[in-house]
Formats: sequence, structure tokens, C-alpha cells
Amino acid sequence: MAGAPHIPLAGAQAVLAIDLAALAANWRFLADRVAPARCAAVVKADAYGTGTEQAVGALARAGCRVFFVAHASEGARVRAVLGARAGFRVYVLNGLPPGAARDYVEHVLRPVLGSFEELREWAAHATGAGAEIPVALHVDTGMNRLGLAPDRAAEFIALAGELRPGVPGGAVDLLMSHFVASEARGDAFNGRQIAAFRALRDRFPGVAASLSNSSGLFLPQKPFYDLARPGYALYGGNPAPGKKNPMRPVVTLRAPILQLRDIEAGETVGYNAQWTAKRKTRLAAIGVGYADGLPRSLMATDARPGGEAMVLGARCPFAGRVSMDITMIDVTDAPRDLLKPGVDVELLGAEITVDDMGARAGTIGYEVLTSLGRRYRREYTGG
Ligand SMILES: *Cc1c(COP(=O)(O)O)cnc(C)c1O
Repeated sequence: MAGAPHIPLAGAQAVLAIDLAALAANWRFLADRVAPARCAAVVKADAYGTGTEQAVGALARAGCRVFFVAHASEGARVRAVLGARAGFRVYVLNGLPPGAARDYVEHVLRPVLGSFEELREWAAHATGAGAEIPVALHVDTGMNRLGLAPDRAAEFIALAGELRPGVPGGAVDLLMSHFVASEARGDAFNGRQIAAFRALRDRFPGVAASLSNSSGLFLPQKPFYDLARPGYALYGGNPAPGKKNPMRPVVTLRAPILQLRDIEAGETVGYNAQWTAKRKTRLAAIGVGYADGLPRSLMATDARPGGEAMVLGARCPFAGRVSMDITMIDVTDAPRDLLKPGVDVELLGAEITVDDMGARAGTIGYEVLTSLGRRYRREYTGG
């Protein structure tokens, strides 16, 4: 995690390289796509594992002015980068926990409110300086997670006006909802949610509207409204599964080979001997494991293949279990004369994408990114 104490030592350490130029280019690509709507950036969960401070700095330099986080603590980190400047807006998606209003005011964070309790909490505590901080209203159009039912939005906005007299529009400056299945282009939920959201939005002409996450921006209906809220795609994830990824990779993960060994056909590798060599096999050990966020479900056994890595241009499979700090790679097909300790194994990058790793691990790229470990040496480029 950015900000964690970190003592860089030479060698034997995996490197997580984060390309801030690619991040900025991804934001500009999406901003162009949604114009004249504005494009925000979702930077929750340490900017999807890439580092809040660095990512927010790069996005702000690229022109991004609106940021979304999940928690107020994350919002405070974003504000520490941006300052309190009113030109930047920071919304907190997870709403307003009891007693938290003062922190939001102190750090100039806009709560995304999704219940009457939250609205009353805000009105009761966010006085004085806080009276100028607008809020967003989260309307639920099918997710059943956070937010108000659409038929209560008018009541909410009216009450927001009453509770905060003299503040135009009851201080609600953004109406938002969230897709259930935007990455599944053909899912009927998308059309239903777009229709529900459009009807709602038409009733509040003065209030800006926002519906789409990354994948929503690639739906044929183009539900951009006033503000887009991409997260995953900014960090290189494919927003349109099944199609060529239009985004640039942002994250590269490489680990140097610690040791090489040769084993005979029939020998096994790793804990519980679940992987058996089918041929004379050359193995490379790398010092990365599930303690570094490498999913344990990338294990390769005799029953199923696991993860893959790029070694000297060759795609090489994992051999055996991913253990806490060590993973074994079958490098038999890599150029033999070039293999030696210290040579890099690429676990994530342009060839093996976060989506690929997610699929092989039985999860999604979002989880791969947000699990990236704290032990890597982080290298930021393009900033
Ligand atoms: C996380 C989140 C986003 C961003 O979603 P991606 O799929 O990462 O683009 C947008 N809106 C809300 C409400 C979210 O929780």
C-alpha cells in the first residue's frame, strides 16, 4: 500500500510497475468517449491497488476533476493530494455512517446519500462550513445494495431542501444509480435500469445525473448522462468482455527467478504433491505467493491447469500450488541458454492481463488488482 514503510533492497524482489501515463491516457480515452458529459474517476480501494496518491495526481493532471471513493478515509487521502480546492469534487460512495458528518466537512467530501436516515444525519451535523457541501442521491434501480427506491427520490429532494433552507436544489447536485450487469451487454437488466433512470432524471432537470461505471460506457445505449464513473477500465481492465480490450495496461508485475532445478518425469512439485511432471522438466522458483496477493486458486494440479507467466518471451505454466511466498513455474519451454537466476518472470502485463489472471484464478480482474500485495517494490513511470 502506498505510504507503507518500505525498505528497498537489491535483488530477489518482485516489482510492481505502474504506468501513470497509461492511466492518464485511459482516462482521456474515456473522457473523449463520453463528451460532452464529464468523466470522473473511481479511485476506491487504493485506486484499485495502484496507489491512491500517485493515481489521483496523474488523473488530476490529465484533467479529471471529480473523484469517487468508497470510504471517507479514502476521501481524506484524495483530498490530501488535491487540497480543499472547490474545483475538485470528491464523493463518498458508501454513504454517511452515523457520527461521520464532521469528518466529511473537515475533508470537504460529498456524501452519496441513499436513505432518509443519512440525509437527517447530514442535515443535523453538517452546519456552518458544511452547509456549502452538496450531496449526491443514490437511487436504486435494481441492485438492491445501496440507495433509495426511485419513487422516493422526489420526497428525498424536497426534504433535502427543507432541511437545508436557502440551499438551492436542497443541496442535491448529483442523482446517481449503479448497473447490475453492465459487463453483460445482452442482459435485459441494462435496458430496464436505463429506462428507470431516464424517467427519474427527467423529473429533476436541474440535477446532474450519473449512471455508468466502466462497462456501462460500452453499452449500445450510451448511458452517459452528465457524469461517467469509470474505475476498472482506467486501470487497464477490459470494460467490454469478449471484445478486444480498448484500454492500455497499467500494471506490470515481474519477479526474478530465485533458483532453477531440473526434475524427472513422475516427480511432483510443491505441497501435497498435486502436480506431477509429465516430462523432464525445468522449474523456476519465484518469490511471490498468496501473501503477495497472487491468488492461491492459480495453483496447477494434475487435475487442472493454473496460472501462467511470461518467461523470456515464452508463455509458461505454473507447477503445483501457489504457496505463501513461493510459486513454481514450468520453464521447460523457455529459451534454455538464457535462463538463470535473476531473469524476470512476468506475471501481469500486456501479455497476461488482469482479466486473464482473474479468469484463470476463477475470479475477476477487479479482485486481482485490489489484492496486489504490499511487499512489491513499486515503480511508478510516466508521472
Ligand atoms: C465501483 C463503482 C464504480 C466503478 O465501477 P467499475 O466497474 O470499476 O468501473 C462506479 N459506481 C459505483 C457506485 C461503484 O461502486
